[in-house]
Amino acid sequence: MKIITDESCTAYSRPGHPEKPARITRTLEALRAKTELPITWAKPGPADDTAILRAHTPEHLARLGASEDFDADSPAYPNIANHARASAGAALEAMRAARNGETVFSLMRPPGHHATRDRIMGFCYLNNIAIAALEALATGTKRVAIFDFDVHHGNGTEDILLNRDGAAFFSIHQSPAYPDTGRSNVGNNCFNYPVPPALPRPEYRDVLSKALDQLKQFKPDLIGVSAGFDAYARDPLAQETLEAEDFFWLGQKIGALSIPTFSVLEGGYSRDLPDLIFDYLRGINGK
Ligand SMILES: [Zn+2]
Repeated sequence: MKIITDESCTAYSRPGHPEKPARITRTLEALRAKTELPITWAKPGPADDTAILRAHTPEHLARLGASEDFDADSPAYPNIANHARASAGAALEAMRAARNGETVFSLMRPPGHHATRDRIMGFCYLNNIAIAALEALATGTKRVAIFDFDVHHGNGTEDILLNRDGAAFFSIHQSPAYPDTGRSNVGNNCFNYPVPPALPRPEYRDVLSKALDQLKQFKPDLIGVSAGFDAYARDPLAQETLEAEDFFWLGQKIGALSIPTFSVLEGGYSRDLPDLIFDYLRGINGK
């Protein structure tokens, strides 16, 4: 199991913001203390303009340097452009590791799946998973599928990958909930699975299974997972029901597909995030 991370991603914060450094620092502590999962650590380099501009407009990239907050959720943190580049770079590194046959997870912030081609929103500045998917397609991968189990709809990833040859997007998310998109399928390659708030766990698992079955029919050579852990029962930002063992189960299901897969951290705001990530990793690693 390879974890791509850089502790400097904890260098920005704003009091009271749920997307906070402790998400990473506490997860790092927890993972370092676990000996049952053999982990190799790697540090990402920054994503370059060529890779970023496959997913975003030049105006979007330039806007990252702005000094005024982008919206109430997305502050203009000092140096956020470099933090966003490092997070996207980690997703790129994870994608390459997956193509080399490694089981890999990018443990970075900021997350990315709400960032559209031209808009910073929802704690997200650059769309890490979309940047990695488009890089994969540009460098030899024929078919890439994105599986997004964050409790919020990956509107940005959908926006960027919509009707792209070789790409397909599958998102399972609470609806209604932020950002209030993803109520039905869009275009010829974006498949949305909205679930009502407080859906019982067995039914939530059924929806996840159904989405994975459909993903399998797409016959991807590579899978990118937008791994958000906010469908957890005690997450403060949503109203779903999943428990730690459901993330273990989901990791196992994804691992059992036996298709090269890289996972990238998106959301997850509860105190239990480190355990949820660990259980997911155990599952995907087949332990
Ligand atoms: Zn989320």
